[in-house]
Amino acid sequence: MKKILILAVLMLALLFSVSAVIAGKPDSKAGKAVNPTVEKNNEFSLPENAKEVAPGVFYLGESMDKGKVVEGYAFVHYAKGSKSAARPKPVVDDTVDMYKLLFKGIKWADTMQYEVNTTGSGLDDDAVRTALSASLETWDTAIIGDFELFNDDLLTTESGFDSGDRKNRVTWNDLGTSGTIAMNSFWFYRTTKEIVESDVVFNTAYVWSIDDVCANNAMDLQNIATHEFGHNGLADLYVSKSAELTMYGYSSNGETKKRTLGTGDIAGINELY
Ligand SMILES: [Zn+2]
Repeated sequence: MKKILILAVLMLALLFSVSAVIAGKPDSKAGKAVNPTVEKNNEFSLPENAKEVAPGVFYLGESMDKGKVVEGYAFVHYAKGSKSAARPKPVVDDTVDMYKLLFKGIKWADTMQYEVNTTGSGLDDDAVRTALSASLETWDTAIIGDFELFNDDLLTTESGFDSGDRKNRVTWNDLGTSGTIAMNSFWFYRTTKEIVESDVVFNTAYVWSIDDVCANNAMDLQNIATHEFGHNGLADLYVSKSAELTMYGYSSNGETKKRTLGTGDIAGINELY
């Protein structure tokens, strides 16, 4: 009997945490410029005497039920990046010195230049150029030596994505709805490790923003572009310790932290150029 009651409490606790996460899903149709996931997590509170006995597992204490003692536990499923998830607080900030080179050090031999076709971006042509130039300049500013990696004077092209034509194109295309925000495809000589082409495609399935403060239902263009341009030699990082760096492989709507480089990003680009 006691076991059944404990199980029932556990199931209730589980249902509660799960429903909180589901309710926290951003409602894109309503276009709300808030982050309901974080709000829900902040609103949701366990009883004051709840004790965390394992990460995300809370002991709620015991009470009497039909003359028998019942124990309560809550399993809390945190949304990534919420305040609660950061406890106990690990050292994850943009001073993390972590980077990974693509194919052990492929790179451009000379300054490279992109052509841009803003069709499908839903944004003003000049605004797109301003955001992309800022992303390119962010990397060049970080390079300590004299080498200029990017010519931030973006050329215009009417062409779409064409990988392998030795043109460096920035375009918008439908990359599906399974979570791909953007893509960088590149070509390099295996023998000399020289990069000879880089193409960036932004997914038209997302709403793109060039606003200073990015709405929570849109992808910040400068944020994602800075990451994609980093693939001119740097690889994605997926460990959680790298979460604040520009080369971290995941992003979300409203995010702008990748506009500026972290310690690892700067170390990586200077290892190459
Ligand atoms: Zn990437």
